[in-house]
Amino acid sequence: MTDTSDKNKNNGVLIIGGGQGGQAMLNMLMGENLFPVVGVVDPLSDAPAMQVARLHGIDTYPTLGRALEACDPCLAFNVTGNDTIDEELRARNHSGGAIGGTEARMIWDMVTRMQEMRRNLEFLAERDALTGAFNRRFLTDELRRGIRWYSRYETDYSGALIDIDDFKKINDTYGHQTGDEVIKVIVSGLQSQLRDTDILGRWGGEEFLVLMPHTDIKQAVSAARRWLETISAKPTMIGKGEAYCITFSGGVASLNQAWMKNGEEHAAITFFAKLDERLYRAKKAGKKRIECLDNS
Ligand code: GH3
Ligand code: MG
Ligand code: MG
Repeated sequence: MTDTSDKNKNNGVLIIGGGQGGQAMLNMLMGENLFPVVGVVDPLSDAPAMQVARLHGIDTYPTLGRALEACDPCLAFNVTGNDTIDEELRARNHSGGAIGGTEARMIWDMVTRMQEMRRNLEFLAERDALTGAFNRRFLTDELRRGIRWYSRYETDYSGALIDIDDFKKINDTYGHQTGDEVIKVIVSGLQSQLRDTDILGRWGGEEFLVLMPHTDIKQAVSAARRWLETISAKPTMIGKGEAYCITFSGGVASLNQAWMKNGEEHAAITFFAKLDERLYRAKKAGKKRIECLDNS
């Protein structure tokens, strides 16, 4: 008889079946911190759930017999679709509960929907509702990540703060809804011109921030000027079919090692101050332009 004293005897769950169902179950149990998973069983050692399990230091077994020799789970999830496993569990004196067949499939379905809902929530938490671009909170976090990266590896990191010109006039003349449409046009116009690694977000009202990792000031300024040229050259139909050329102004700045001395927060504040200052200068200088240098 097997000595069970050194078995992994706890409130753990054994997942039988390493396919997609097993993987969803494993992700849910780990993500929700419900029960510890003591093992995953599948004859295919590279089945998805087996790979995930190994990545997280969870034991994997080729057969149910081997699993029950090594651990004593309080619950076994049979997500193989093979109901004879329930009999095998009983035959092997599995003392905990077993969830299989229809119940397991129902739970898998619930898990899938829950994960989908969570993904939607995560998407909404970092996006702007009107445009689908990233929101201010995401941008702030992203900049902090960029600053940490820059401070360690000194790779160039730039940003452009963009503000639509005379936007109030658009709202006043054509209505708020048209204003919203103009905001969406700008976002899609910018998005279509950015590199995959650039991050575009709505900073507020009619202001947008583009974060550009691995981009120096010269490259960032020429990129921002190109966006402006492209967008302002293509009239947008607004109001009662009037052709309107949307223009914007922008301030561009790059992270500087000197700002790092007083910490991440200080570097972020200085970066935004530079962007703001340069955007203000672009407006003062007549709008529809990109500024990158200080007066001083
Ligand atoms: P400037 O050229 O100097 O940037 O002037 P401006 O008119 O663009 O800027 P101002 O700050 O005077 O006005 C911005 C306006 O944007 C005021 C605000 O009501 C409007 N606004 C802010 N958020 C939204 C939005 O989500 N939708 C619409 N339609 N309007 C918005
Ligand atoms: Mg503004
Ligand atoms: Mg404006």
